[in-house]
Amino acid sequence: MFSDEITKYDWDAITQHIAQKSASDVEVALSKRVCDIEDFMALISPAAAPYIERMAHLSRQYTQERYGKVMSMYIPMYITNSCTNHCVYCGFNHNNPMPRTILTMQEIEQECQAIKRLAPFENLLIVTGENPRDAGVAYIEKALQTARPYFSNLSIEVMPLKSEDYYRLTQSGLNGVVCFQETYNAKRYKLYHPKGMKSNYEWRLNGYDRMGQAGVHKIGMGVLIGLEDWRTDVTFMALHLQYLRKHYWRTRYSVNFPRLRPSAGGFPPNVIMNDRELAQLIFAFRIFDHDVDISVSTRETPHFRNHITTLGATSMSAGSKTEPGGYYTYPQALEQFSVSDERTPCEVEAAIKAAGYEVVWKDWDKIFD
Ligand code: SF4
Repeated sequence: MFSDEITKYDWDAITQHIAQKSASDVEVALSKRVCDIEDFMALISPAAAPYIERMAHLSRQYTQERYGKVMSMYIPMYITNSCTNHCVYCGFNHNNPMPRTILTMQEIEQECQAIKRLAPFENLLIVTGENPRDAGVAYIEKALQTARPYFSNLSIEVMPLKSEDYYRLTQSGLNGVVCFQETYNAKRYKLYHPKGMKSNYEWRLNGYDRMGQAGVHKIGMGVLIGLEDWRTDVTFMALHLQYLRKHYWRTRYSVNFPRLRPSAGGFPPNVIMNDRELAQLIFAFRIFDHDVDISVSTRETPHFRNHITTLGATSMSAGSKTEPGGYYTYPQALEQFSVSDERTPCEVEAAIKAAGYEVVWKDWDKIFD
């Protein structure tokens, strides 16, 4: 389990080590075809900032070698905002007095139909809060079965589950699981997740092992940028990805770097990452791992997404609603967070094509398999 592996690393020591990286460490990293974790730390360090153009060039090259000039599109579908957790940065926080909804299967079907009217999405991400009693595994299973006739690729972003539950869901068409660790800083994790199941750092951390053991085809990872030192957090994530690749080598992986957005919780980010730093991080990740699917969601602005299209991103969401029933049933409900890119899927498609890239509505797995 990764909870054993992570004990080899110390948060503060890694933070310090990244800060000490020099221009010559960056030069060494850029000269290699295959980078290790030391090179990765150099590439995300402040010392790499002047090298961003070279990094962009390499990132584009490796992305095109692996993925061609193609962007895979996906769309999230929130099916419940009921949640027993108290994540301080989230609008669905249990303490937030707001109307809670758990969509019925009929409503889920209407949402699927509304999404298909937006664009020919084949790649659906089903999102829930954490409410094992009222929206647990059986509910998620039924939701997958309901969505299955409409989409060829189904992923979920839900509470961490037991291995046998992941396996059970793969039997109902589940292809991928997205789960964000939010932060790898074990000491401070509880400040952001004070109550509920999510306050259990280790259970969440080892969720990826359980997905791998269950044979989930694709695992999506991420940290929430804005909580802790982002350079240290993404280094832990890179270590985690390396560990997972070694142990569950049949699985495909994606990464995402969501920056904290305004939400009904009103939690101000502790750390601000600017666009240039996010671009540096994406380039560094691509140079470190040529194969990983890098996803950029509608949290980011059209300006940023247009630029990153040709420089390392391989998947994008579009037209996203972050409230349950947002496409059809309850279009005015409270969002989990507000999106930055409000363009329609067709407008996003047009921008990607204008950059000389092709758009596919399937997931990469379905293209490569
Ligand atoms: S981040 Fe997820 S688990 Fe936490 S309060 Fe929001 S919906 Fe619930």
